Amino acid sequence: MSISNKIGIYPGSFDPITLGHLDIIKRSSELFDTLIVAVLNNRTKNPLFSADDRVKMIESVTSDLNNIKVQTFEGLLVDFAKETGAHILVRGLRATSDFEYELQMAQTNRTMAPQIDTVFLTTDLKYAYLSSSIVKEVASFGGDISHFLPESIIPLVKEKYK
Ligand code: ADP
Repeated sequence: MSISNKIGIYPGSFDPITLGHLDIIKRSSELFDTLIVAVLNNRTKNPLFSADDRVKMIESVTSDLNNIKVQTFEGLLVDFAKETGAHILVRGLRATSDFEYELQMAQTNRTMAPQIDTVFLTTDLKYAYLSSSIVKEVASFGGDISHFLPESIIPLVKEKYK
């Protein structure tokens, strides 16, 4: 399936990118001509990796996909979407617990920018439990994170908790 001449945005913190995120990136890259992975540079949160490091990590694990751009953004996502010319936001849905927040965000964004729509991809069941926060929690206790992250990202996370 392809939506022609379309730019999609997949926004998130990606702190760090997990196999669940990568699955959504791969699947949504097929739906758009260009998929912008938009890394939230949120100064009020205290991220494990800087926004620039998160961009580099995502670029390195998506280098085999030829229609991906990775950029940071600050402030309102709808403003960033307008700047890039994107009309569609992509979000991943893991469980019903994601749904309430995601619906609220999608409706808020649509009220602010009616020309921008949100589409949801359901997670691959393999990754339904997976989040960046749970990976950080496991890593902080020295647990095995090899099932959760792209291979090249694993040593970078371990290094943070040395
Ligand atoms: P945020 O800080 O905005 O929640 P995240 O980096 O945690 O950003 O996630 C970005 C997007 O990826 C969200 O739409 C989230 O629901 C989705 N996502 C996160 N983990 C998974 C996963 N394991 N499977 C599918 N989608 C996921």
